[in-house]
Amino acid sequence: MIRLYCASSNPGKLAEFRLAAEQIADAPPLAIELLPGFAAIPACVEDGSTFEENALIKARHYGRHTDGLLFADDSGLLVDALDGAPGVRSARYSGLGATNESNNRLLLERLRGVKDRKAAFVCAIALVKGGQPAGVFTGRVEGVILDEPRGTGGFGYDPLFFYPPFGCTFGEASETVKFAVSHRGHALREMLRHLASFA
Ligand code: IMP
Repeated sequence: MIRLYCASSNPGKLAEFRLAAEQIADAPPLAIELLPGFAAIPACVEDGSTFEENALIKARHYGRHTDGLLFADDSGLLVDALDGAPGVRSARYSGLGATNESNNRLLLERLRGVKDRKAAFVCAIALVKGGQPAGVFTGRVEGVILDEPRGTGGFGYDPLFFYPPFGCTFGEASETVKFAVSHRGHALREMLRHLASFA
């Protein structure tokens, strides 16, 4: 059994990762747990210019607190017509005190009258062992940004992100269905394939 610590202040993410790992038939036997004492560890500054850099900054920072395997992720939305914004600033797109609602509002404002609505979610997961880098895994999913939100599921930009193969937004898809195709799902599967070599 591989014990894998997750470093995330987002409680939903741990649940998502566990759910996804359960769905992966050829994954090695795995226990995904929040890093013990995570809440008491001061957060680090995520000042990288890419998702990969930020994931690695987080994984190294929290990985110092365990000899075992630990992973951290960073993710966001890239919009073609906005030159890749909000990108690594996805969580704080609308500034101090940003919320999902204020970020979505700003995104719609910036895209008002814009025809090209192509966008992608990207996720990078960095894995460390005893604080030392052991791999960075990325996932990506392509979609288009709608003119108004649809659906109440998911989080962040999900209600605006229309995924053509499903014919609905990620905000309208179930968690399980979303994970089968999502950036985070792809990145996690990449990492689990790699971890099979540790088993
Ligand atoms: P982080 O990886 O927790 O730093 O997330 C960055 C931000 O990107 C989130 O706050 C969301 O705004 C956005 N984001 C990342 N992944 C998703 C997703 O799966 N759905 C919707 N928004 C996402």
